[in-house]
Amino acid sequence: MDTIMTIKAFGKNAAPAIEEAELYVENLENTISAVKEGSRLFIINNSINENFSITEPDLIDILLYSLEAAEKTDGAFNPLIYSVTKEWGFTNSLYKVPSDEKINELMAQCDFTKVKVQLNSEKSDEGQKSILKLYKPVNASFDFGALGKGFAADRILEILKKYGIESALLDLGGNIQLLGKKPDSSLWKVGIKNPLPDSNQKIPIALTLSDCAVVTSGGYERYFTSEDGRTFIHILDGRTGYPVNNGILSASAVSSSGLYADFLSTSLFVLGKAEALEYWRNHKDFDFILIMDDFSLSYTSGLKDKIQLLDDFSSVEILE
Ligand code: ADP
Ligand code: MG
Repeated sequence: MDTIMTIKAFGKNAAPAIEEAELYVENLENTISAVKEGSRLFIINNSINENFSITEPDLIDILLYSLEAAEKTDGAFNPLIYSVTKEWGFTNSLYKVPSDEKINELMAQCDFTKVKVQLNSEKSDEGQKSILKLYKPVNASFDFGALGKGFAADRILEILKKYGIESALLDLGGNIQLLGKKPDSSLWKVGIKNPLPDSNQKIPIALTLSDCAVVTSGGYERYFTSEDGRTFIHILDGRTGYPVNNGILSASAVSSSGLYADFLSTSLFVLGKAEALEYWRNHKDFDFILIMDDFSLSYTSGLKDKIQLLDDFSSVEILE
């Protein structure tokens, strides 16, 4: 993961728990990273075969989750967007604006409805074992960049809990995950970054929370400006292949699962304010916060008693 990971765990077995968690994340990269040469996913993405038998439990789980995510958002979230992301230069920082023809050509390879999966269970020496039969067109490449940190955070918490840890804070490149309360039984305070360019880093929002994940997606950390002065960000609309440009500067999701929050922050960001609100009204099992490019703020009603505003927003709307 090209990201900084901080694990703060409190309790008797914190040291060995953190050690096991770090080892787990290292190994996870060898399984689900699209960019790490030689990873299991890298090999699948670059294979000339179209049919695969996958036995790695983490890869099975994240792959199935990503396809469900695509279905739930009608492709706004698109785990096959990798070839287009690569064409824009976001995978190696050699940025360029592709032609419309090139994007359309590559988008044909990103059709997630062409992927077929079948999950089987087989008996092995270690008990029942899952095997995922995967068919993917030869040019289709998976990218779990929008889910990986949330997935890892959920698994890390499972490891910490196994060691009896009841209080922990994870920061995986801006994905925050909280286990329980602080060691002194007070609530955690989580800041949301200021997404404005050249902002003075003043934290505009603080959330008081326990036992949940807070994940933010925004265009402010990875983007480039073309010669004609247009800015393009690293989150693409999975339906079109173009960088998102819908007035949202950052979308934050708060939910009990890190994976769900990671999926949501990316998806709500892509969907735009109106569709994000509709998605929330249809599910209501999470909360979200949007900061728009006019520095207006909107957040869902579940955060009313948990949110503290530390900056002057142009307007504040509570979504019901
Ligand atoms: P972060 O940069 O903090 O990981 P996200 O969780 O929003 O932010 O993930 C962004 C990454 O997801 C991109 O770098 C890219 O690899 C991938 N991605 C970009 N657009 C989409 C999309 N529409 N659907 C799924 N994944 C995407
Ligand atoms: Mg995400």
